[in-house]
Amino acid sequence: MDQSHQATIFDKIIAGEIPCHRVYEDDRVLAFLDIGPLSPGHTLVIPKERKAHLHQLSDDAAAAIGRVLPRICRAVLQATGATAYNVLQNNGSSAHQLVMHVHFHIIPKFERDGLGIGWKPGKLDQTQAKALLTRMHAALEADRAR
Ligand code: 5GP
Repeated sequence: MDQSHQATIFDKIIAGEIPCHRVYEDDRVLAFLDIGPLSPGHTLVIPKERKAHLHQLSDDAAAAIGRVLPRICRAVLQATGATAYNVLQNNGSSAHQLVMHVHFHIIPKFERDGLGIGWKPGKLDQTQAKALLTRMHAALEADRAR
């Protein structure tokens, strides 16, 4: 079976078969508290469309998430008193994705609690950048023509 259509625990949460602390729901989106929070208020925002990774999401499902994500971030900030937060979205097990259903983490950042990030920046190579742009523009053009 295509990984993008495999059932996960989030299907059961969407269907109400497994309980969750529901933060927000509409016909396309569900947001609920993470069961293993990195900080108080850690919230997951998921499309009801069953796709494993962000790049597989339909435009409609993506738009529905985009419409409510800032609103849910505001609710998390107001409820927790946090002024900083990370929005994290993992794709693929090597990128730390455990549940293969698209989800956005909203993780309030307090002094110690929250997301720890290892970030080792390199330097943008001009030749490589040019080659990447050529390939990316071609991919975007092909996607638009789909
Ligand atoms: P990932 O590593 O895939 O980006 O994150 C999956 C997240 O889902 C984890 O933070 C984990 O705590 C959360 N999670 C997994 N199973 C459940 C569950 O049954 N209920 C809730 N509320 N969160 C879950």
